[in-house]
Amino acid sequence: MVRSVLLLGCLLLFGIPSFGQVSNIDQKARSIEEKIIQWRRYFHQNPELGNREFKTAEKVAEHLKQLGIEVKTGVAHTGVVGILKGGKAGPVVALRADMDGLPVTERVEVPFKSTVVADYNGQKTGVMHACGHDTHIAILMGVAEVLASMKNELKGTVKFIFQPAEEGAPEGEEGGAKLMVKEGVLENPKVEAIFGLHIDSQIEVGKIAYRPGATMAAVDFFSINVKGKQTHGAYPWSGVDPIVTSSQIVTALQTIVSRNLNLTQAPAVVTIGAINGGIRQNIIPEEVKMIGTIRTFDEGMHSYVHKRVSEISTHIAESAGATANVKIDVLYPVTFNDVALTEKMIGTVQNVAGKENVTLIPAKTGAEDFSYYQQKVPGFFFFLGGKPKGKDVSEAAPHHTPDFFVDESSMVLGVRSLSRLAVDYLEKAK
Ligand SMILES: [Zn+2]
Ligand SMILES: [Zn+2]
Repeated sequence: MVRSVLLLGCLLLFGIPSFGQVSNIDQKARSIEEKIIQWRRYFHQNPELGNREFKTAEKVAEHLKQLGIEVKTGVAHTGVVGILKGGKAGPVVALRADMDGLPVTERVEVPFKSTVVADYNGQKTGVMHACGHDTHIAILMGVAEVLASMKNELKGTVKFIFQPAEEGAPEGEEGGAKLMVKEGVLENPKVEAIFGLHIDSQIEVGKIAYRPGATMAAVDFFSINVKGKQTHGAYPWSGVDPIVTSSQIVTALQTIVSRNLNLTQAPAVVTIGAINGGIRQNIIPEEVKMIGTIRTFDEGMHSYVHKRVSEISTHIAESAGATANVKIDVLYPVTFNDVALTEKMIGTVQNVAGKENVTLIPAKTGAEDFSYYQQKVPGFFFFLGGKPKGKDVSEAAPHHTPDFFVDESSMVLGVRSLSRLAVDYLEKAK
């Protein structure tokens, strides 16, 4: 009763859609909201780290099988892929959700708070869905249920990709989207386009944010080991001080962004995140180790920053009589929304959320391994509001923190958006 009043309320509020299929999708999504919330609470309370999403994958696979969807498990370690063949011939469109939690100890007092503890690279840590991937799994399970219920009308195939380890695989392991692609997730049947979303704790519920082209940055990690000559702190001239040399390097690295790059083309970031060396007031140590990250949006700038980090570090070290060993690990490429696909599909998103709720945003210097799929096929990735209405943005905890919080009422819009994107894409395909 309450549900039907709510439904009627929603229909009055949003207007009764004229197109039968649209109305079916929206109604179906709303009717399973309670289930979606329960799934999300289960995943939230039982988070698993990257490449260890065993129970999560089991629950996903069980749900897909129960819907009559063809299921493959064990893809890229714990990944689950579902294939839903529609009743009519047409192309293959993929929808992706990531499934991993993070080594963060939850501080939010909810009845389904995570108390899970696990081993992360040899360290005991709390585990939490501190990036909201629990909502992504629940949303995509909901989408699978919506689309399975209208299977006969689907003009093509929908591939559901439940991916492990978006936040990175444990040390020494492969994982994430890169491994999914390597193991052929975009083949057999061949995917023509892919859609994905990320919940955002700082965008209000009901709103969607997107950007065509470069949306999130390419990310690299680097380390610089500066080796000098150890000596007594009172007699610096008898050694080579790696602390002074490293300080010069840190300062000079800032000139890459401010003096070497044409920032009118695209932004870039060079950050040193840790600097370690020395043990006592009067000892100049032998070595200083620094680690940091690089964020870029342009391939030319990407390789140029690498070149400059190496040149600056080694030449400054050399000028001091020290050495610098620079190692750069290239991680995720740019998350690049295919411009034509974004243009073609943004109308669907506006239709679902209401035009006034869809905003064009600047690029984010965070990164996403959704980029690996987009390197192979056109893809569109957008952000779904998860901040409770009325909450000040300065009070909304950022992702990856113990206070990270998502309003569950955000998820239905995610289900409706991804379902409609898949259906409309198949409708529009020639
Ligand atoms: Zn994250
Ligand atoms: Zn994330």
